[in-house]
Amino acid sequence: MQEREDHLIQATAADSTIRLLAAVTTRLVAEACGRHATAPTASAALGRTLTGAMLLGRTFKDLEYITVRIDCDGLIGGIVAEANAHGQVRGYVKNPAAHIPPNAIGKLDVRGVVGNGMLHVIREVGVEIGLAKEPYIGSVPIVSGEIAEDFTHYLSVSEQVNSACSLGVFVEGEQEKVTNAGGYLIQVMPGCDEETVAALETAIRQAPSVTDMLRSGADAETMLQQVMGTIPVTVLESHSIEFRCKCSYERAVSLVTALGEEEVSDMLAKDNGAELTCHFCNAVYYLDDEALRNILSPSSPVLM
Ligand code: ZN
Repeated sequence: MQEREDHLIQATAADSTIRLLAAVTTRLVAEACGRHATAPTASAALGRTLTGAMLLGRTFKDLEYITVRIDCDGLIGGIVAEANAHGQVRGYVKNPAAHIPPNAIGKLDVRGVVGNGMLHVIREVGVEIGLAKEPYIGSVPIVSGEIAEDFTHYLSVSEQVNSACSLGVFVEGEQEKVTNAGGYLIQVMPGCDEETVAALETAIRQAPSVTDMLRSGADAETMLQQVMGTIPVTVLESHSIEFRCKCSYERAVSLVTALGEEEVSDMLAKDNGAELTCHFCNAVYYLDDEALRNILSPSSPVLM
């Protein structure tokens, strides 16, 4: 079976009183987990958070940038995922080696490596065009640790929206590779009639798990149709999504420059160049002595 490109769809149902989002994130989650060399449980935690951040981000019409940060006391130590309106996402976990035996139902025990703590959602809206200076921050305690339930709890407390979210990451083989990842987020808007809500609840309860649907070849649209049962779904938009980091050699240079002349002179005298590793994608940037000397006395004058 041919592996599909990652994609995210926005859809609607029941006269626009139900909003739906679904994504297949297999490639981007596999890339993130490969870059960070995560153990299986850490892969599931990171993949669910990356997918959830993308889905949650799309629920905001005016989104520029969303950061989901899980500060927790479990073995994983913390999870960060960032997504923008262009379908690009990046993220990491503090302890990529976090892995424990499966839980009672034989699944990767994400809750077990997350533990207790807080879920923070930081949204930048209008910052880029100068309408706002400060990002909007919403925080809720972790109620589940399985990630998807924590997103729905956040939505109900911080945004007063009733929703259902399911996120899945499937890891298999000796190489512990991510072979399927994705999820969906369904929001019930005010005005949705009780009968529809009841039908929706039943349909969601009876739906197969995200990983089961993905493993049987479902794309985002098929996944939503399977979850919604007899309720018809209308797809509005489809976006391609990818793992993409904002780091670059130029950013590495400006980070080192920001350390100040004294620090850079010290690096030049004591070390063999400077090496920076990006937290988000594990890319390594090496600034050689010439680059460091150039920071101290730029060879090309800066135009003012
Ligand atoms: Zn990076």
